Amino acid sequence: MSEIDIPHHHTVGVGAGPANLSLAALFEAVAPHRLVLLERRPVSTWHPRLLLSGVRMQTSWLKDLVSLVDPTHRLSFVNYLVSSGRIYALINAQFNVIPRREYQRYLAWASEQIEGIEYGVSVDEIGFEEGVGFSYESGGRTIARSDHLVLGLGSVPYVPPGLSGIVGDDAFVPEELTGRLPDMDREAPVSVIGGGQTGAECVLELLGHGFTDVTWLGRRPWFQPMDDSPPANDFYRPAYVEFLQQVTRETRRRLIEGQTLTGDAITPGALQSIYQANYDGMLRLDRYPLTMRPGRDVTSADRDGDGFVLSATSPIGHEKVPARYVVLATGRTATPPPLAPSLTELIDHDDTGEMIVDSDYSLRWKGSDRNKIFVQNRARYTHGVADANLTLLPVRAATIINSLFERDVYTVRDAAPSVVWG
Ligand SMILES: Cc1cc2nc3c(=O)[nH]c(=O)nc-3n(C[C@H](O)[C@H](O)[C@H](O)COP(=O)(O)OP(=O)(O)OC[C@H]3O[C@@H](n4cnc5c(N)ncnc54)[C@H](O)[C@@H]3O)c2cc1C
Repeated sequence: MSEIDIPHHHTVGVGAGPANLSLAALFEAVAPHRLVLLERRPVSTWHPRLLLSGVRMQTSWLKDLVSLVDPTHRLSFVNYLVSSGRIYALINAQFNVIPRREYQRYLAWASEQIEGIEYGVSVDEIGFEEGVGFSYESGGRTIARSDHLVLGLGSVPYVPPGLSGIVGDDAFVPEELTGRLPDMDREAPVSVIGGGQTGAECVLELLGHGFTDVTWLGRRPWFQPMDDSPPANDFYRPAYVEFLQQVTRETRRRLIEGQTLTGDAITPGALQSIYQANYDGMLRLDRYPLTMRPGRDVTSADRDGDGFVLSATSPIGHEKVPARYVVLATGRTATPPPLAPSLTELIDHDDTGEMIVDSDYSLRWKGSDRNKIFVQNRARYTHGVADANLTLLPVRAATIINSLFERDVYTVRDAAPSVVWG
């Protein structure tokens, strides 16, 4: 591609997960054909390797890509259901929360109708040049330029340093489980490390496939269910995000840390399914196929013959847990942004090394007067627990669009809070 052929866009979004899809859906009404999304994957998909049997969403279907700010938008979940002819079937199935596979299909349907998504493009480096804008390198070439940039990179599995040494064929992250199942010995001991939703889903998958010796280790004092009560859901409202902008950084961090179980925990339905599958297994085997070990911090693991020995602290001391296979459901971390070092240097970071995110989701950086950088899903400690999930996607996208175009393109209404936060 010669220099003159490199397309220059108003805005480029890197990543086409739900966060940037919501942005693209709302963008087209304001500035059609001016946003392009660059996505590494070859097609639209959503956590495809974590679509284990029967998994459900953790959020209401009302929280789709658009409806919270524009319920008349053609890419609403209800329009998807009517267009696919499945609305009556879905209503009749009486799901409290919809299957994750249905949400994935909804995203694929919406993606097909959003212009300007370029699949199979992995952005290796984002640079910046004064007067030219941002540049995007892929496969050793500059493939695009833009005035503004929105990072929607999502997250990648995280394995703590003490456990990373065992990663291989028999010790793997949850994304590998489905592919490994056919070769695994169902009678052999399997340990699942991680007491969150993904750990729970891996345990269910193993029990569902007839594994007879599963150990589930979690750090929290018990396998804690998610708090989905009305007061917990008040944290997932624009009014609360607005309140958070008014408190000091320290207070904000303390408040947000106390809200972890409202999102980063196990759905009661998944826990019930595990207890019932374990009971069924006990009736079949005369012993429980699953042993639960909460309050365990697995600090290291060593290879031992064909398997592993896990070392954990427990409420009464230390213990060793032997395992033939280990599933490392030890969390996720933000995907590192592929920013050129020269661009990173221009961005303000706080004393923990995190990029500083302002209330409109823009980064504070030297060139922000003319060229904006926005981040999706990286502002937990400024915007609260809702930032890491799907509940306020259109609200965040609307905030970004309003800031980018310097006017209230979208109105965010949360007019009836009954809680006085401060
Ligand atoms: C299994 C699972 C289930 C979840 N379920 C829920 C739920 O029910 N409710 C809820 O509220 N939250 C849920 N979450 C949390 C969160 O909402 C999701 O992770 C959501 O996908 C985040 O959207 P995103 O667009 O920010 O990131 P992602 O969906 O991860 O999308 C990021 C995209 O960026 C692309 N990308 C990354 N780097 C580059 C690059 N350099 N170049 C080009 N493309 C790149 C990736 O390929 C990816 O497609 C779930 C998370 C997981 C892991």
